Amino acid sequence: MTQVSDHGGGVRSARVPIPDNPLGYTLVYVVDTDAGPVLVDTGWDDPASWDTLAEGLEACGTSPTDIHGVVITHHHPDHHGLSGQVREASGAWIAMHAADAAIVRRTGETRPERWFAYMTAKLEAAGAPEDHVAPLRTARPRRLPGFSPAVPDREIVPGDLLPLPGRRLRAIWTPGHTPGHVCLHLEEQHPARLPGHGRLFSGDHLLPEITPHIGLYEDPDDATVTDPLGDYLDSLERVGRLAPAEVLPAHQYVFTDAPARVRELLTHHEERLDGLRTLLVEPLTPWQVAERMEWNRPWAEIPYGSRNIAVSEAEAHLRRLVKLGRAEAVAGSEPVTYVAV
Ligand SMILES: [Zn+2]
Ligand SMILES: [Zn+2]
Repeated sequence: MTQVSDHGGGVRSARVPIPDNPLGYTLVYVVDTDAGPVLVDTGWDDPASWDTLAEGLEACGTSPTDIHGVVITHHHPDHHGLSGQVREASGAWIAMHAADAAIVRRTGETRPERWFAYMTAKLEAAGAPEDHVAPLRTARPRRLPGFSPAVPDREIVPGDLLPLPGRRLRAIWTPGHTPGHVCLHLEEQHPARLPGHGRLFSGDHLLPEITPHIGLYEDPDDATVTDPLGDYLDSLERVGRLAPAEVLPAHQYVFTDAPARVRELLTHHEERLDGLRTLLVEPLTPWQVAERMEWNRPWAEIPYGSRNIAVSEAEAHLRRLVKLGRAEAVAGSEPVTYVAV
């Protein structure tokens, strides 16, 4: 079931399925250039997804062997998973922002044992209960087959035009969802002359109905106290000011009025921060905060892996509150607790 859309002006998209994932599919964009087609993202690393991508490219009048280059919005496997296979088939270059390229290299170099130790320490510090942490201590680490992401060979430099002959595609750095997430601004006039400035490939940064996950940037080698939610909110404003005529996101569907969607997301996070601050009338660990925050289902029904993601999201919100001077860590608390100020 190949599903391809023609967005006009030499831009098409193919839906590449993400197995067993409620997101459903990644939209892989095919941008015609004078040197051959360039892909924006590639999709999940899975044989069926690869077949669907290949069929989609055929339906777009090209094939995996004809790809000139691959531009990656961020390192997540539903975006970067098939890049290596595309490069093998075609000799295409792969471009990514340096911060996400560093994550890709680290993923390849870090032993799984080190990750388990890092995750264990992180969850303990966040106040996770023993029954949650214990399985990590006894886990038998193994590499997942097909899960060694391709190391990119070009760097996406924020503000620069990408090397797409005959096109004007500019990199807009939008950290938050990942530290090296980029949106790509196709500066040419919209093919149907919709009002606004060109079109924006928004990756996971700006989606029509989904609020992207914002957690902590995970790096066992770097103890810098980052503020991913602060980065994300800044990045949202940057993209809102661009006022593109149309947004071409990596999931769901194409939409217009990016500034309105930006306002919705800014309001959503402002409300979330206010709600969180209300919870902090009593000192709470990040784990306790996560248990009390609102999710898409009750905490008791949230599976193991998603709880880790939820705690990371709670921590990103706590970081933001601390940075804004609206909460602080209780001195001497261990695991650390936070309280509103
Ligand atoms: Zn993502
Ligand atoms: Zn995604």
